[in-house]
Amino acid sequence: MSSRETGNSRLMRILKSKIIRTAAVIVLVMAAFLVIFARPLSTPILKTIIKHRLAGLTYHFEDGLHAGLCGTGSPMADIKRTGPCIAVVAGKHLYIVDVGDGSTRNITLMGFQTGKLDAVLLTHFHSDHIAGLGEVMLQRWAGGSNKTPLDVIGPEGVETVVEGFNTAYSIDTGYRIAHHGPETVPPSGAGGIARPFKLGPEEDASVVVVDKDGVKITAFKVDHRPVVPAVGYRFDYKGRSLVISGDTVYSKSLLKHSQGTDLLFHDALSPRMVGMIRDQAHVSPVPSLKRIAADIPSYHASPEDAAKIATEAGVRHLVYYHIIPPLPSSILNNFFLGDAKDYYQGPITMGVDGMLFSLPSNSREIKKKNIL
Ligand SMILES: [Zn+2]
Ligand SMILES: [Zn+2]
Repeated sequence: MSSRETGNSRLMRILKSKIIRTAAVIVLVMAAFLVIFARPLSTPILKTIIKHRLAGLTYHFEDGLHAGLCGTGSPMADIKRTGPCIAVVAGKHLYIVDVGDGSTRNITLMGFQTGKLDAVLLTHFHSDHIAGLGEVMLQRWAGGSNKTPLDVIGPEGVETVVEGFNTAYSIDTGYRIAHHGPETVPPSGAGGIARPFKLGPEEDASVVVVDKDGVKITAFKVDHRPVVPAVGYRFDYKGRSLVISGDTVYSKSLLKHSQGTDLLFHDALSPRMVGMIRDQAHVSPVPSLKRIAADIPSYHASPEDAAKIATEAGVRHLVYYHIIPPLPSSILNNFFLGDAKDYYQGPITMGVDGMLFSLPSNSREIKKKNIL
């Protein structure tokens, strides 16, 4: 018996060593194959990827209004949300409302043609809404070889913001002209040009800031005190409409200007969650956190406030953006929303970077998808 066992174990040892040797040979052959052929193989693969990637940047938008969420966050770092930014395609025109930090990358990745950008519209001049302006101006200039600066539409004060970015980017502008030549980057097209508008003294004052090719954009006052001026924007095109709140608390002006709109993009701050941050702020190494967490609920709407507006205005779909605080997981969405669903029975979407909403012209359809 023992000699048979010894024979079996010897056989197993031989088999094992053969398997190991065979595996080693296979690994060596594969390694050699990769060393010899990796470069010639990777070149056509990479070429195909680049071709598809570049072609993907010409996303087709059917006639209508489209709103791409290029930034749904706030100044607080959120892995799913960069600074506030909404790109609006209206017919053949492209506008961007606010350009928060990091939003320029999303604008490009989502397939918006920055080189063909008609204008940037700013709701107010808090840093989280303007931080990406320099990059958007640069992308629009270099990406489209534009010969005139980018229109930057905003309430009074926009001149200071645009002038500052133009100055900050002036040295870079010189580098790019010297490197790529004036035909690729015409010197006259660098930077932006401020297009300020005035609003009357009434709480619900408004003014039409764009009216061309059937596209109407109306700026209206909102309440983000002590930040003054602060506005929201309403877009109308071929029977479709959308409203972007900018930063505001519950606002009767916003209510008036959102009447019957298809889509309302509303800022929202959860007082319960921010209150929890304030109460735990003593463990943070950031000494100012407690005060900031105590201050910010006073000038942002709660999810319930936005839901009330959506119902009272007869909005057809409510989208939250400029979400505070950061939500590391969608599991927290319901906690964030609180009682909002009691105040608004229509569809609610928690905005995330990369979402695209489409309102085909002369229809009632509202399409939603994620293109990031
Ligand atoms: Zn603000
Ligand atoms: Zn903000």
